[in-house]
Amino acid sequence: MSGAVAEQQLVDHHCHGVLLRDGDQATLESQLTEGGPFPGGSVFDSGIGFAFRRLCPPVLELPADLPVTEYAARRGELGTDAVNRRFLRAAGLTALCVDTGYEPEPITTPEQLADLSGARAYEVVRLEVIAEEVGASGISAQGFADAVRAKLAERTPHAVAVKSIAAYRTGLDLAGKRPTDAEVAAAAGSFLRAPARLADQTLHRFLIWCADDLGKPIQFHVGYGDSDIDLHRCNPLLLTPLLRNLTVPVMLLHNYPYHREAGYLAQVFPHVYVDAGLATHNLGARAPALLAEALELAPFGKFLYSSDAFGLPELYYLGAALFRSALSSFLRTGLNEDLYAERTVVRLTRMLCADNAKRAYQLGSQM
Ligand SMILES: [Zn+2]
Repeated sequence: MSGAVAEQQLVDHHCHGVLLRDGDQATLESQLTEGGPFPGGSVFDSGIGFAFRRLCPPVLELPADLPVTEYAARRGELGTDAVNRRFLRAAGLTALCVDTGYEPEPITTPEQLADLSGARAYEVVRLEVIAEEVGASGISAQGFADAVRAKLAERTPHAVAVKSIAAYRTGLDLAGKRPTDAEVAAAAGSFLRAPARLADQTLHRFLIWCADDLGKPIQFHVGYGDSDIDLHRCNPLLLTPLLRNLTVPVMLLHNYPYHREAGYLAQVFPHVYVDAGLATHNLGARAPALLAEALELAPFGKFLYSSDAFGLPELYYLGAALFRSALSSFLRTGLNEDLYAERTVVRLTRMLCADNAKRAYQLGSQM
């Protein structure tokens, strides 16, 4: 790996908390991928599984390729806090933008992640959670829009961004126009009959426009995720009408297998940024191919690093390690092909690992 890449600390611009409970073998198997265990085989026999077996045990001072049973036993001996701390420190992070809107079981807060990693942690507020909280408060359909605006104004002053999970609920084929308050009230009438789960295109659009009014960057889940999404509805090209109209920075998260489409959008829309989070570690040894494809059209000043780690601290480390080796491979190829000189390698490394995110989220003044 190039020295510049190994030494450069990362801004992880999309990630989640890690588990507060012990990661036994069953937990490792269920949390490793977006799928989970299946009969007659092991989730560790996969791209991510082999990367895990090779790269993670040494962080706990164990030999690489240790059987998962023995690895889990050593993990238990060390204890959750020590394991979390080792992997988060080993990831080499300078800042985290933490999505606090997904908590299926107790996980660390941004403050705890900052302590574990030694990095600054910033919050990203999930739009649909705000709407669902307002929905549960007994508000009328007529009062819904103003109540959401007030709640967002209250929750976001210290947040660096907001996030939309429309991809998970309706897909990304959203109209480009801002809905009227009358349209929002009509949609809220249906939503308020079952406000636990927002899945309404008018209301997703309303939330996105609220974020635009607040001037906050908007992260969109795009592409690859768990089996709750209809992946064919998560192509980022479906966002084109909205992207033509929004004025704030838009960060397209994950994107795989539509990372080339996302790269195109980053090239043609000045306010669009992309990453390859989650896929970077799930592709294991193919991470260099993924990064090279994602950077075919995306301007190098518009690509961001993220792990999308959730639950297992190993995923913070794997995301970082595989991104670093993919970036080294990308930069080495450019050097070998005489596309640029060594000093450009140093500059691109800083941009892709940290400076693009600092600029896009205006973290510079706070770091
Ligand atoms: Zn995520």
